[in-house]
Amino acid sequence: MSKLEVYQTSENGIVKLGLKVWDRTASLADLLECWQPLCDDETIFKAYGQGHHAACKGCPNNCCNTAYVIPDLISFRKMAANLHISEPQFVQDWFEPDKLALGLLKLKANPCIFLQEGICSIYPLRSLICRFYICTELTPDTEQLIYFIAWSGAAATQIYARQQGYLPAPAASGYTSFDRFFIELADACQDLPGVKAFFAADDYRDIPLEYFL
Ligand code: SF4
Ligand code: SF4
Repeated sequence: MSKLEVYQTSENGIVKLGLKVWDRTASLADLLECWQPLCDDETIFKAYGQGHHAACKGCPNNCCNTAYVIPDLISFRKMAANLHISEPQFVQDWFEPDKLALGLLKLKANPCIFLQEGICSIYPLRSLICRFYICTELTPDTEQLIYFIAWSGAAATQIYARQQGYLPAPAASGYTSFDRFFIELADACQDLPGVKAFFAADDYRDIPLEYFL
């Protein structure tokens, strides 16, 4: 029996995706394996997909055109290694300069710097936020879980980059409300086991899902 299951349910007439964890020994890799087929599942309503029931591949409204991506720490390290550049070089060349000046890591966007001819050029290494995003409704518990995981991974990158000296000191002003939310989140959750797990992990299989349940 699978450790996790994705199901569809109806709440107040709206079809939503939910996640059931059957086995608390599951890892983050188990969750990603379970979540991955959703992009190609044409039975799932996709608000911005062509005809609303289509695979993400070939989507005319590709969310990679506008995504705000702060990579989780596992993805961040793998992206830099895959490009054969140092992490400081990766930060300087692949992240938005205006956000870097504020001490924040946002991949160059509009469209995402990794998008080539409509396709993600680092698909196997893409970040958690990219892996989890799907333009459909989620049950509240499921939404809370996947964003808790994705933001924990992004917070780990923010903390790591700061510790390594890749980022300047925070600026006095110039932040959007989202920027502030994220900085406060990274500060507040740096001691959570789920965030710490990203520092010790080489891969998503090393991160117990239980830290987020
Ligand atoms: S998740 Fe992104 S790529 Fe997939 S249908 Fe929605 S907008 Fe298109
Ligand atoms: S990293 Fe890949 S999946 Fe994520 S926004 Fe960029 S192109 Fe899209």
